[in-house]
Order: sequence, then structure tokens, then C-alpha cells
Amino acid sequence: MQQKLTLCVIGGGFTGAAAAIACLRHIAQPFRLVVVEPSASLGRGVAYGSRDPMHLLNVRTRDLSVFPDRPGDFSTWAFRHLDQGENDEALLEGLGHTFLPRQLFGEYVRQRLSETVDGRPNAAFDVLTGTALSCSREGRAFAVRTDRTETIRADVVVLATAYGVSADTGVGALSPFGVVSPDVLTGARSMVLIGSGPTMVDVLLSARREGFAGTAMIVSRRGQLHREHAAKGVVPKEMALPQTKSLARLTASIRIACEAAEAYGTPWQAVINGLRPSLSAIWRQLSAAEQARFIRHVRPFWDAHRHRLPPEVYRQLQFEVGEERSRLIRARVLDVERSEAGFTLKLRRRGASSVEELNADLAFDCRGYTPDLRSPLIRSLIEQGLARPDPHNLGLAVAPDGQVLRGRDTPTPGLYALGPLCQGTLWEITAVPEIVRQTDLAASRIASQSPLSVVAMSA
Ligand SMILES: Cc1cc2nc3c(=O)[nH]c(=O)nc-3n(C[C@H](O)[C@H](O)[C@H](O)COP(=O)(O)OP(=O)(O)OC[C@H]3O[C@@H](n4cnc5c(N)ncnc54)[C@H](O)[C@@H]3O)c2cc1C
Repeated sequence: MQQKLTLCVIGGGFTGAAAAIACLRHIAQPFRLVVVEPSASLGRGVAYGSRDPMHLLNVRTRDLSVFPDRPGDFSTWAFRHLDQGENDEALLEGLGHTFLPRQLFGEYVRQRLSETVDGRPNAAFDVLTGTALSCSREGRAFAVRTDRTETIRADVVVLATAYGVSADTGVGALSPFGVVSPDVLTGARSMVLIGSGPTMVDVLLSARREGFAGTAMIVSRRGQLHREHAAKGVVPKEMALPQTKSLARLTASIRIACEAAEAYGTPWQAVINGLRPSLSAIWRQLSAAEQARFIRHVRPFWDAHRHRLPPEVYRQLQFEVGEERSRLIRARVLDVERSEAGFTLKLRRRGASSVEELNADLAFDCRGYTPDLRSPLIRSLIEQGLARPDPHNLGLAVAPDGQVLRGRDTPTPGLYALGPLCQGTLWEITAVPEIVRQTDLAASRIASQSPLSVVAMSA
């Protein structure tokens, strides 16, 4: 018996929701779409599950959309919720320049997914509330086993599991989004924040909001605080990079282009924005050794310029450091111990040979998130030879449209990995615009696979 195509998206965070939307838009025939996700809500994941209004998007409202062919859709959505029926264009424009709370973006994604599902009465959409534990080949299809009784048999499997089910970083410090009661925060006199990126800023601002009045010590190997967005947004400035596979030449060219732009009155941010569409291609043309060199030596500086903070958040951070409410310590954390009295960290400062101890009432691991390759699901795929890690163990080896590679250039037919799981192969793939483009590309590839209903499966 021939059955409808079944597609299984594993992970219902932002990438999973974007993949589901893209598939529902691209695959015209009747099909079944199952999303496996343990948490109650779809579309949020780590980034948009925050309930703290201080946790702002680091992209302007006008630059966000779950539809690649409808830029500005998040602005339009937010405008509909704020406008009092006057259709005031100035409000729409003003809104476009803001950095709204991430929680609101999660609600936008959830609503757009739900509308897209409603618009496809001939597609069966199911959510399995659970965790996928393994995925194996069964003939030409896949069997996805979960921690529920149901096993899903699917023609196409999309991995959108990114940072895993629980984002526990396990260095002994507290998780950045773990719940710490306001009493503990108001009573604490000191706090160590390991890492100096946007997650550190989230934790610091939330702690201040909850009443933490003590000193924060930001410990980071390179001591790079993230820079700010240009005021009101800038027009991306395209630049011609030298045709080179040398990381040193590339970084020098980018630095010179930024300095030249500034000299002529264009903010350096315009150069970084102009490079963004080509970053993935630039990354792929570097050798694995040059990529590794970038990750080791250049990444902290690059991330600080690429993943910029909204101006109001940046100002608060500068105030923290300027007023010495927060201190920046350039050091590597060697160990974290927790006791009744608080936390003791062993550090080695940059350039020092000795190890010193730092005591604090609280310590948070804010080093950010990396894809979880140790999960039973991803391990099962690697062990069966259906997938392989990228050369840097940051995620899985993939083609640009997310097809998972098992051999050097050999894809596993029907298996896709999207979003941050592709960072080691594609680099510039962790933020909303790139994820939306990639999910759209993958969905059009899946839709073009012909014939769609080729595999007969029995439950
Ligand atoms: C704190 C933070 C803030 C960010 N802010 C921005 C921003 O402002 N702008 C921007 O453009 N980008 C931002 N990003 C980047 C980007 O939007 C995220 O990387 C993106 O949301 C990744 O979504 P995801 O669904 O791939 O991953 P995740 O958010 O990790 O979601 C993965 C989902 O998969 C589920 N899952 C995992 N394993 C399994 C399994 N085995 N079975 C079933 N389900 C599973 C998890 O429960 C989770 O819901 C931010 C990222 C972070 C971490």
C-alpha cells in the first residue's frame, strides 16, 4: 500500500518551528508532519523561551521574519498588536528600529506556525511531546524511537535539536537560565560570571532586575565585551575580499575595511553586515586547519563584533563596568567548586603562571551554548554511520541545504540537520535570518524529491 509522505522534525525550538513552516509552505501534496519536542511550547527553544523582558533580541524588529519572502513580517505582526486602528505608518517604522523582548519573538513564531498549520487542511500535523532517543534506517525510511511508546516511521527526518534537551553546561557553576530565587540574589554580595558574551549580559541584567546589588566579576579568557549595534541601523556595505585561503589575510582585509569605512563616516558595523551573506562561503573555502585557527584565536574578537548588543543593553553594560559594579577579569577558569559558603573558582590570569582563587556567593556559567553531540539521538546516528561530526566537533557535517553527510560528500538521503547543528560546517548559521533561509532551502529540496509518496510503510 502506498502511504502519504511522513516527515519528522526532531526538536521544536526556533529551527524546528521554522522547518515545519517551510515544509508546510513548500510541500503541496498531502503529507504528515510530526514534530517531536519535550517542552510544552513550540518555536521558543533556548533563545526565545526566556520570560525576562530584559532579554532583548539582538536583531532589529524590521530584520526578523519566519518567511524568507516576507521580510519585515515580525514588524508587521508586532504593529498589528500595538496599533490602535489608526494604521499610523510612523509607528510601524519606529517599531522596525526597536529591539523587542525575545519572549515576544517566540510568541510570533508560535502564532505563525499555528496559522501555517491551519492553512494546510490537507497536511496532518502532529506534535509528539517527548524526546527522540534514536533514529535508524528501516528500508528507505527511518524509525525514530522516543521516550514515549510511539515509534515514528518517517521518509524524511529533520534534526533541529541544537543545544539539546537541557542546556546544562556542567562546569560546576549555575546554569545561566536556572532559577535562582530573588532572596538569594538580593542577599548575594558577589557573583562570578564565566564568559563575557550575550548570555553573561542576560544573566547580569536579570540579576540586577531581581535586586542583586553586589559586585559582578566577569571572567573571560580574552576579556572581549560585545560591541553595540550602530544607531538606527546602517546600510550593509559590500566589500571585495581578496581571493585567499589565508585567515591572516582575510582578517587583515576586514580590519582595514572597517577602519576605512569609519574614516569616511560609515560605521564599521556596515562592513560586518555587508559581509554576512558571504560568510558561510568564506568559511567553507578555508582549510580545516585555518578554520581551527579561527576558532582558537579570532573567534572571541569576531563574535564580539558580529553578535552585537542593542544600544540600551550596551549602555547598561558600559555603566556596570565604568562604575565598577562589574569587573572584567582576563583569565581562564580551571575549576569551580561549590560549597555551603558559595563558590570557589581556580583561575589563571592571562600571561600568569600561577593559579589564584576567587570566591563568590554565586557563579554562573555564561559561556554560551554549543550543539549537543552527546545526546543518545545524535550518538545513534553517528554510531550507525548515518551522520558524522564536522572536523571541529561543533555539530554535524552537512551540505549547505542541511543534508547530513555520512562520507566526505555523500549525503544520507532523507536526513537533514538544520540551524546551529551546522555551525562547524557552515559557520554563519545560528541566527534567525540564516536559519530561515536554510530551512526554506531544505524544504524546497524535500518538496522537489520525486515522487513524494514513494515509500510504503507499515506502522
Ligand atoms: C540565548 C540566545 C539568544 C539568542 N538571541 C538571538 C537573537 O536575538 N537574534 C537572532 O537572530 N538569533 C539569536 N540567537 C540565535 C538563534 O536564534 C538560536 O540559535 C536559535 O533559536 C536556535 O534554535 P534551535 O531550535 O535550533 O535550538 P534550541 O533553541 O536549542 O532548540 C532545540 C529544541 O530541540 C529540542 N530537542 C533537543 N533534543 C531533542 C530530542 N532528542 N528530541 C526531541 N526534542 C529535542 C529541545 O527541547 C529544544 O526545544 C540566540 C541564541 C541564544 C542561545
